[in-house]
Amino acid sequence: MNSVMEIFDERSAFSFEVFPPKTDVGMEKLCGKGGVLEQLYTLNPDYISCTYGAGGTNVGKNLEVLDKIVQDGKTVGVTHFTCIGNTKEGIREQLQNYLDHGINHMLALRGDLPFGWTGTGGDLHYATELVKFARKEFGDKFTIAVAGSPEGHIQCRSLEADIAFLKQKQDNGADYIMTQLCWDMDQFRYWMDAIRAAGIWMPVDVGIMPILDQKATINMALSRNGCVMPRALSEIISKNWIFPDPFTGDKGETDALCAQKKEDFKKAGIEYTINQIDEYRACGINGIHLYALNKFDDVAYIAKEAGLLDLV
Ligand code: FAD
Repeated sequence: MNSVMEIFDERSAFSFEVFPPKTDVGMEKLCGKGGVLEQLYTLNPDYISCTYGAGGTNVGKNLEVLDKIVQDGKTVGVTHFTCIGNTKEGIREQLQNYLDHGINHMLALRGDLPFGWTGTGGDLHYATELVKFARKEFGDKFTIAVAGSPEGHIQCRSLEADIAFLKQKQDNGADYIMTQLCWDMDQFRYWMDAIRAAGIWMPVDVGIMPILDQKATINMALSRNGCVMPRALSEIISKNWIFPDPFTGDKGETDALCAQKKEDFKKAGIEYTINQIDEYRACGINGIHLYALNKFDDVAYIAKEAGLLDLV
């Protein structure tokens, strides 16, 4: 498989993200015959990335998922990789192992700090260092993506500092950016202008989380990322609120009402997601990276309606 960088040279890219399931049943659903991965291939994505559990949990499953993608040979497999709890020696070994398995694309991350941790607990502390280390050890063998946060990473001391570190990732050898989710389009446009003004020319592949589930949407925005929620999205959440709250929910209202609200939420969320992709594509971005959430039907519908299938 060629580097995804060749695609960015020619046209906008379109890709998916999956995660390694914790159970055998989940693995079978994702990687088994006729499973979600094989269904996703039918949409001809330019690549499929697989997340990497912070602290090294579930690493074996990450490799199992990527092995399947590489062996099937239908698309490029991209592994996410973090500094969490990793020594330099361990990183060298794991990255070599990915190469030995034919996986030569990575998203180089610091990683989400496990609950209660104040640092990575490893030899490298930031993604900038991981990019530098991977380039020093492996030269050009990897195509390296890095994370970009249009609203600023939740721990950054300022948006300017965050952009400076993004530039440093580029200087250290990163190839392209995969963004954190951002629903605030004015902020996104501001960030695009700001990174280009800062001399960051890396292609920007925009991460989109399909809005399908109320709990997951609130969790993703607030548990880690502190994302701004536009009024239109807050309205969708409010109008379909499951009382007393969507987390303990389900017990306060009848099953039928809960089911109806979940369905209405998903319908409005899908429409919102499609509109958001339109807005992103009008911003001069280089690709759309859909978090497939290990699902097919809803994600395929969004990709089709948003016109992403015509990109490839
Ligand atoms: P960094 O770029 O290292 O930044 C972390 C913080 O430190 C920022 O506030 C930054 O401003 C600051 N900083 C950066 N460099 C320096 C420096 N040199 N000196 C001082 N401060 C600095 N997490 C996972 O654990 N597994 C995954 O699979 C995963 N997949 C992801 C996929 C995408 C597309 C994205 C956008 C994120 C993903 N994450 C994943 C989350 C990511 O690990 C977290 O956002 C994490 O908190 C930061 O990672 P980073 O690479 O952005 O960190």
